[in-house]
Formats: sequence, structure tokens, C-alpha cells
Amino acid sequence: MELTFSIFAYGLVAALANVFGGFLIVQRDWHRGFLKYFVALGSGYMLAVATLEMIPESISRMRPHAALLILGGYLLVHFFEHTITPHFHFGEEIHSHEVMNPAVGLSSLFGLIIHTFFDGVSIASGFLISRPLGLLIFVAVLLHKIPEGFTVASVMLSSGRSKRFAMIAAISLGVSTLLGVLLMTMTRHWVNYGLPVTAGVALYVAASDLIPEVNKEPGFRMALVVFAGVIFFSFTKWLLEGGL
Ligand SMILES: [Zn+2]
Ligand SMILES: [Zn+2]
Repeated sequence: MELTFSIFAYGLVAALANVFGGFLIVQRDWHRGFLKYFVALGSGYMLAVATLEMIPESISRMRPHAALLILGGYLLVHFFEHTITPHFHFGEEIHSHEVMNPAVGLSSLFGLIIHTFFDGVSIASGFLISRPLGLLIFVAVLLHKIPEGFTVASVMLSSGRSKRFAMIAAISLGVSTLLGVLLMTMTRHWVNYGLPVTAGVALYVAASDLIPEVNKEPGFRMALVVFAGVIFFSFTKWLLEGGL
């Protein structure tokens, strides 16, 4: 019971970060240049959690199916964010209204709802296996949650929707995250399947959603923040193993 409570508490924090990201876009006068640092830090951190924690743990739990499930998780996000969605990328939507018609906006929202559902599944899977794994996955997810809410709200505005609709879109990402947490917690004996699928999802989010955004920035400073994300991961891992 206590475990279930803490899984939902962490899930709720992640969900609220989606809503906060949407709020930043709707409040036009708020400074939000700092968000790109979250994208870069989050990409390095999530890449480290996926490759050093989630993938090895998945393989040790269910060889040989884990590898297939990891690939499946990766392709699943690719399908929903980029195959059935004609135009999607992380970060503020700055493309014209002709590109971003309302149908394109809605398909981006749908893709992100699927993605955030697995964010929730990954947090719950981590905690169901061990508290340190849960915390590492939670930080990885949290770092990109504000940019996620920010992305969906800006896509809604640039496809001609109202600010109110943009906020509803950001809230729906939060709700979807909580649904992922709920489903994984209710079907906890499936955690050996949940972890590899979400490892593939994490790999996609880090390397195929976030890193391309980092690479759009001129100069090398933003690229260096990715390494800072990996170092930040090592530091939190060290703390969890009883460092200090
Ligand atoms: Zn665009
Ligand atoms: Zn996400």
C-alpha cells in the first residue's frame, strides 16, 4: 500500500510538470529560454538510465524476449509520434499555420498521449522493481516533462487552437501519465514486460526526440549539457547507492 502511494505521488509530480509546461506557453510573457537546457540535460540523463539501468535489468529478468520488447517499445513511439503524425518535433512549434492545420495538431496530441502513457508505465515499472530504479527513472522522466507540456501547448496554438484548448492538451498529457502509472500498478505481475517496453520508449525519447532538438542549437555549449546529464545521472546513482 505504501509502495502504491509513493508510485502515485511521483507520477503526480511528473503529471503536474506537463501542466506547468503548458502554462509556460499560454503565459506569453514568461521567460522560457531555460527549457532547452532541460531538453539537453534530460536527453543525457535518460540515455544513461535506459542503457545502464533499464536495458540490463530487462535482459537479466527475461532473456531472450527483452531485446524484442525493447525494439517494440522504440518502434511504438516512432509509429505514434512520427508515422501517423505528419509533423512533430519537441520544443516550441514555430512553423506556419499552413503546415500546422488543426488535424496535424490533433495527431501530434494523440502521439504525445501515447508517449506520456508510457512515461507513467516506466515510473511505475521502476518502483515495482526497486526504489533506486524507480527514482532514477522518475528523474529521467521529470526532466523532459516540462518541455513536453510546452511542446503540446505550442503545437495547439500554432494549429489555430485557443489558449484554453492548449491547456487542456497539456493537462491531458498529465492524465495520460497517471493512467500509465495506474495500469502498471494494477497489473504489477506484468512488470517484466513493462520494463523492457519502456526501456525502448526511453531510448527513443532520449536519442530520437530530445537529441535532435539539442543538435539544432548552434555551437557546442548545448551539446556539452548532454554530457552534464550523464554526469548528473552518475551523481544521483552514487547518492542512491549510499554515497556521502
Ligand atoms: Zn514544427
Ligand atoms: Zn515523455
